[in-house]
Amino acid sequence: MELHGVGVGRGIAVGPILRMPDPLPDPNDESHAGDAAAEYATVQESLAAVSSELAAKGASVGGDAQAVLEAASMMAQDPTLTDDVKDRIESGKTGERAVFEAFAAFQDILIGMGGYMAERATDLGDVSQRIIAHLRGVSAPGVPTSDTPFILIAPDLAPADTALLDLDKVLGLVTRDGGPTSHTAILARSKSIPAIVGVTGALDIADGTIVVVDAAAGLVTTDPSEALVTDAKARIAARAAASTIPIVPGALADGTKIPLLANVGSPKDGPESVELGAEGVGLFRTEFLFLDSKTAPTVADQQAKYTELLSFFPGQKVVVRALDAGADKPLAFLNSAHEENPALGLRGLRALRVSEQILLDQLTALKGAQDATEADLWVMAPMVADAEESQYFVKLGKALGLKTVGVMAEVPSLAVMADQVLAAADFVSIGTNDLTQYTMAADRMLGSVASYQDPWHPAVLRLVKMLGDAGIAAGKGVGICGEAAADPQLAVVLVGLGATTLSMTPAALADVRAELVGVTLEQARARATAALGASTAAGARAAAAAAGH
Ligand code: PEP
Ligand code: MG
Repeated sequence: MELHGVGVGRGIAVGPILRMPDPLPDPNDESHAGDAAAEYATVQESLAAVSSELAAKGASVGGDAQAVLEAASMMAQDPTLTDDVKDRIESGKTGERAVFEAFAAFQDILIGMGGYMAERATDLGDVSQRIIAHLRGVSAPGVPTSDTPFILIAPDLAPADTALLDLDKVLGLVTRDGGPTSHTAILARSKSIPAIVGVTGALDIADGTIVVVDAAAGLVTTDPSEALVTDAKARIAARAAASTIPIVPGALADGTKIPLLANVGSPKDGPESVELGAEGVGLFRTEFLFLDSKTAPTVADQQAKYTELLSFFPGQKVVVRALDAGADKPLAFLNSAHEENPALGLRGLRALRVSEQILLDQLTALKGAQDATEADLWVMAPMVADAEESQYFVKLGKALGLKTVGVMAEVPSLAVMADQVLAAADFVSIGTNDLTQYTMAADRMLGSVASYQDPWHPAVLRLVKMLGDAGIAAGKGVGICGEAAADPQLAVVLVGLGATTLSMTPAALADVRAELVGVTLEQARARATAALGASTAAGARAAAAAAGH
């Protein structure tokens, strides 16, 4: 059987599947047999067992995941919670019910606090489920564990699940929900896990069934033929060999330089990007630093963070994006108003223009970092609609002393006005995630319309061409910083359409570098022309592939 979805990256995996267990049903509101002390003693055992299991898991995985798991381990022993559980048992509730109610009450408090604390509520829910599972003697929900490698199938992955992914065991990921720019997809790409999202029917595959996950084709094949398995294994081996190719600057077969840059969300991502061969940063999503902040960050605080990132890239380009608040990245201090359609609301540059002091502070902090380091700082605005908005941002940046100021192309109107925009801005960087969302009028967060969120659609490619042509005419750079740049075949087409740099999650750099070096600019242009003439995303993919043979 073949199931279709949206592939993330180019990976391929073969193996047996394991499904994410369903969440446990809520414990009934029943009374215990009467011995509160015995009931609480049983619960204490489960609390201790879950706590040490989480801590041990943390110690075995290390890194950021360890901190997440240690925090969860401490939640299972938190005295406020355990006292509440005890009180509820003493008032007659069963252990399971007492745990369920006490954790739920605490979750409500955290949700009420908002921001970072609200996010911890999800983790608390996970700990509660683990304790209840232990009390019932069933396996805990969440990412299953196995001694042998497997392909994980889930409705979707919660952020807390991701910390538990054992990369030695999870060969691939298939989810029913989610689009190519969903949390799961971004995680899978950053960890180089072959993944397909938005696969209807995925949850009907029985545990243990052997499948081939072919991300490039967006295809899950159950009970594959021997020939298909052999082919998949050969492709896995070829990819492993390609990843050992020495790191060299991005270039085409004819020597045309295509700098390969990193998308980062924190200064901490700098060293890994350098290690994986990034020739600079093409997108620093500054809002990721402040998602938990209730108040606008100070100039000094921001300057320190920007300086930290820039210091990893002396003599290299670092493109920093002004705060991109709204829709999937809400910032409480920028626009907290309820909006029916936040993706179409007061977001990106629109929100910054309304709260101009926040924008001035950020640009001032960036100027400080520009002066304090040797990096070549470029600054750009998100969600820009036209040349007037471009002029506004560029003028402001230049007045504050920034050297290179540009805009992101995420809204189709900006691409349509590309000639005027490139006259106003020093450069344009195309955010293909949002450009696709707005061109296709399909919410990038919504699984039900995930098939529309495909940057291969010729409508998106035609807008990229308008921007590329305008860049060539103006002699200015047009980069790509959306997820599309991480797809090696599409990266070639984007270069053929006029992209001068490609920025992506660092894990994707090796695949893209290997693909580019095999084509000349002329061949890339031929593939682009073929894709532009297609009428669907799948047609464009096929036409580009045929032009490449
Ligand atoms: C984009 O929209 O393509 C982009 C790079 O920005 P983000 O994914 O942060 O919205
Ligand atoms: Mg965007």
